[in-house]
Amino acid sequence: MNQQKRILIVGGVAGGASCAARLRRLDEQAEIVIFERGPYVSFANCGLPYYVGEIIQHEDKLLVATPGLFRERFHIEVRTSHEVTSIDRAAGEVEVRNLETGSVYRERYDALVLSPGATPIRPDLPGIDLPGIFTLRTIPDSREIREWLKTRDAQRAVVAGGGFIGIEMAENLDVWGLDVTIVEMADQLMPPLDPEMAEFVRLRLAAHTAQVRLGDGVAGFEQAGNGGLVVRTQAGERIPADIVILSLGVRPEVGLARQAGLEIGSRGGIRVDDSMRTGDPRIWAVGDAVEVRNSITGEWDLVPLAGPANRHGRIAADAICGRASRFRGIQGTAVCGFFGLTAALTGATEKSLRRAGIGDYEAVYLHPGHHAGYYPGARPIHLKLVFRRSDGLILGAQAVGEEGVERRIDVIAMAIQKGATVFDLEEAELCYAPQYGSAKDPVNLAGMLAANAVRGDVALAPWSGLTETAAFVLDVRDPGEVAGNSIDGAVNIPLDQLRDRLAELPRDREIWVACRTGHRSYYACRLLSQNGFRVRNLPGGHESYKAWFPEGHRQLTGVKL
Ligand SMILES: Cc1cc2nc3c(=O)[nH]c(=O)nc-3n(C[C@H](O)[C@H](O)[C@H](O)COP(=O)(O)OP(=O)(O)OC[C@H]3O[C@@H](n4cnc5c(N)ncnc54)[C@H](O)[C@@H]3O)c2cc1C
Repeated sequence: MNQQKRILIVGGVAGGASCAARLRRLDEQAEIVIFERGPYVSFANCGLPYYVGEIIQHEDKLLVATPGLFRERFHIEVRTSHEVTSIDRAAGEVEVRNLETGSVYRERYDALVLSPGATPIRPDLPGIDLPGIFTLRTIPDSREIREWLKTRDAQRAVVAGGGFIGIEMAENLDVWGLDVTIVEMADQLMPPLDPEMAEFVRLRLAAHTAQVRLGDGVAGFEQAGNGGLVVRTQAGERIPADIVILSLGVRPEVGLARQAGLEIGSRGGIRVDDSMRTGDPRIWAVGDAVEVRNSITGEWDLVPLAGPANRHGRIAADAICGRASRFRGIQGTAVCGFFGLTAALTGATEKSLRRAGIGDYEAVYLHPGHHAGYYPGARPIHLKLVFRRSDGLILGAQAVGEEGVERRIDVIAMAIQKGATVFDLEEAELCYAPQYGSAKDPVNLAGMLAANAVRGDVALAPWSGLTETAAFVLDVRDPGEVAGNSIDGAVNIPLDQLRDRLAELPRDREIWVACRTGHRSYYACRLLSQNGFRVRNLPGGHESYKAWFPEGHRQLTGVKL
């Protein structure tokens, strides 16, 4: 007969709740107790920005499960408003404080799972505790923001931090009719993206919000005479605001683990093995609080996302019940929607590869319609595929567009998990009818472009080298497309005239060829290389050029990479 195990779980949201439910499915006898410091378990943090924007109208919609459901359906005890304050590993006990009564008691465990999440960063800046400055992590946080918006005549908001949550909040404050300014210290929005892909995000936000300020951080806050706030920036700007949302990232909550002497890794998260077990054989840790291996770069990584937290919880439960489940590592598949645009990514970016010291890679860009061009309503997808130059292994992808973005990234995410190459993308059999895609889906096209490069059919020119290259830059667009809209120093010879004008091209210099999207320039490259010229294609053409060198915004994004 099964001996009854006593399993305690710290934190009852994504990682903790999924672990508890899986444990019950595997072990009907175990005694399972969840301790949750806050008033709710299993709530949808990801829905909080939309609750602020009143797209989700009722708070109870955010509650995925309640203590009652855990008790009745799963026979799991949930103690909300109970904080675990310390772990006595030698005794196999935790100390718990009942936050309602103040009483403190100890509980014994056979297995302990830590899923304490992460804390929003709230830097120690002058004026940070003034009323009207909020972070967003819990239902009470979002309730307070809504109350603030409802009870004051707020006109202007500052969102500090232009990551996923900051951008979602910008959209949901815009719903309230506020003028929103995003202040971001990095020189791009959405730091997980490569900067030129983030440029598409900036353009969309700038079209909707009052301001996007890049390369400038928040330095402090002051009370304004009218009862509002003034946000001071590092560059000396003073921005008036009636509400400030801090979205400066999160820090893994490791206090309990550190106090218990568990290993904290180089990225500041709890160190676990691939079964989510800490160095203590009776303690597991999951979710935002842990650091895990990046499956592409092999580096330790912090990726605070709900999908991985749920998977960690499930794997820890399997391991506790003697099943050999393993976490395969993180590849950072994520998506964000705002003002009708979707930005998504999976796997490595050029930035992350460079940080990891990996140089064997190349990238292609394409800007196809999300479905067949002949069917009305096709919207462009700006897609970047990063792959290993030596053998075509897919390393990562980023996409931005209005329609069909997440579907393409999900396909490539799965391909990466299966160790697929660009040749597999070329051959991938995907859904097609005119209103959904094309006979050559954007995913196929990305594979073809990259496969052309790996096979040596066409060499790629790096956009980052454009300002310094000694190459002859050839623009093969039609003259009407070029007017007032050309790459500095480029010579225009339309593709259809190229065969007759070969004598105008140098044979002693490399030729870098561009068009609007990289399609015609590919034909030109094939034509020229078969006529003995040394050529490279500028991937993604002028559409990518505009993202790399955005006019009037900052110079030469690429050089800063
Ligand atoms: C506004 C917002 C939007 C998001 N949107 C997305 C999204 O769209 N997609 C996505 O993938 N991810 C999103 N996330 C991230 C996602 O919510 C987290 O990755 C996920 O919730 C992490 O789960 P977790 O169990 O590790 O931590 P959490 O869900 O944060 O749960 C940890 C819980 O532990 C409790 N706790 C901590 N310490 C103790 C203690 N000592 N004793 C008792 N209880 C304790 C905390 O009160 C907390 O409730 C979003 C997060 C936020 C805040």
